[in-house]
Amino acid sequence: MLSGLNIEVPPNVPRCIAVAEADSALPVVRNFIGGSFVPSRGCPDRLICDTNPATGADIAYLPCSNKTDATDAIEAAHKAHKCGTWRNLPVNERARILDRISALIESHLEELALIETQDTGKPLSFSRSVDIPRAVDNFRFFASSIRTSTSQSTMPMPGVLNYTQRSPLGVVVFIKPWNLPLYLLTFGLAAALAMGNCAVCKPSEWTSRTAHRMCELIDEEKLLPPGVLNLVIGYGSDLGPTLTTDPRVAAISFTGGTATGRVVAANAVASGKKLSLELGGKNPSIVFEDCLPQLAQTCTNVLRAAFSNTGQICLCGSRILVQRSIFDPFKAKFVEMVQQTIRVGDPLDTRTTMGPLISAPHRQKIVNSIEALRQAGAVIECGGEASGFAFFSPTVVSGISHELIMNHEFFGPVVSLHPFDTEEEAIEMANTSRYGLAGTVWTRDLTRAHRVAESIDVGMVWVNCWLLRDLRVPFGGVKDSGEGREGGEYSLRFFSEDKNICIKYYD
Ligand code: NAD
Repeated sequence: MLSGLNIEVPPNVPRCIAVAEADSALPVVRNFIGGSFVPSRGCPDRLICDTNPATGADIAYLPCSNKTDATDAIEAAHKAHKCGTWRNLPVNERARILDRISALIESHLEELALIETQDTGKPLSFSRSVDIPRAVDNFRFFASSIRTSTSQSTMPMPGVLNYTQRSPLGVVVFIKPWNLPLYLLTFGLAAALAMGNCAVCKPSEWTSRTAHRMCELIDEEKLLPPGVLNLVIGYGSDLGPTLTTDPRVAAISFTGGTATGRVVAANAVASGKKLSLELGGKNPSIVFEDCLPQLAQTCTNVLRAAFSNTGQICLCGSRILVQRSIFDPFKAKFVEMVQQTIRVGDPLDTRTTMGPLISAPHRQKIVNSIEALRQAGAVIECGGEASGFAFFSPTVVSGISHELIMNHEFFGPVVSLHPFDTEEEAIEMANTSRYGLAGTVWTRDLTRAHRVAESIDVGMVWVNCWLLRDLRVPFGGVKDSGEGREGGEYSLRFFSEDKNICIKYYD
């Protein structure tokens, strides 16, 4: 039961088989622990099937790791941190290694983009132009950040000197989702390594292979001391409890659904860890009537904000609030553009702009949601159809109450249109959702843009644009969309601890 819409949500996890049932022609991925690639020690008899959501075919097997493997990974990271080789490297040397990792990802861009597309179903053109380039940028950005960061400060008192030093935290755990696998993992990982931490990475059980390939590339050149970077692959329910409670873990950077985030938070807080939570969203796109002269341009941008990556980006604008005076022309143009410009199909075809959803169970959640909306009297303006193994057509819904949908995160290619009369009403609607990740405002009136941007309860606002990212800016949400900020200096601060050292001179 989700707030507003009463639907069945099937568990969204890949299947697992006995090793004896595995197709010997398919590759088997392993964990990366303490500088070695190893099969699961805790659950050696089972494998998770990695399925291509565009075809339904299994393409690889993943370890079905459990707490034994999680403990091994934490132990390796803890040992590496205690030994100190990485954290004691001069900053320039750490930065040089991060730059090398960036270059390695860049020189394997095509290979990594193909893996990401096979795992997620996203168009290859998207993996090539968004996912993998961003992983390259993440390492490059944090390499240059630590080169130029002047975080240490001095605060003299009479006869006394205070100086503040930034130290790494120790072992940092990364638990990440399937929608932007390498992109999101490396956003935190690059910053944590830059600050001298050791990492245990747990990518989504749907999409672990780019992280695995990155570990292989790093290992081939022995860029990091053993144990500085560890990868443990398996179900979140098997690994999560250990990764989020082990006392040797200092911090957790979690990105995923709000319900999972609550479990992670409870564990982390109980065991006193630093925590960064990037959770779900139900982001408003607020379109004012003065956009009418640029209707096509506005629709193009709102459409991109709604349907990129099959609507599976936490920042996607899925509640489209449109001022009533332009509601009808906006709806007509928007629906026409959705039907005419989005091309659903084979992710490997360069003409495809939308691939399948991540999985058949996730598609079933969307199907159930649309059925519930139909029963509630919604008008399906376009789309609403399932096809193939996990495809779903881009869908625009109208004629339903905003309350019914404002807390329902489809995390798929479904948006709803809602009219509003006044600016105050738009702000009120934007803020009634329990989520508060991001919002967009579409207007030519800059005074209004500032007013609305300041009034909506979200962590990030884009005005007349969407997902224009500068890695220096704070990234994160409020309310049920998360807590804490990453990005630029915020990341460097999160992945380190400031220590004050107070020295009194002898008389
Ligand atoms: P999810 O919460 O199901 O899984 C996220 C990660 O948590 C996975 O690695 C999973 O294995 C792990 N996990 C599952 N159970 C766990 C447990 N008990 N303890 C610890 N870890 C556990 O999310 P998902 O389906 O992979 O991703 C979709 C969700 O992520 C959406 O809600 C989306 O909005 C959100 N998301 C948020 C952001 C952001 O920056 N705010 C970015 C991307 C995705």
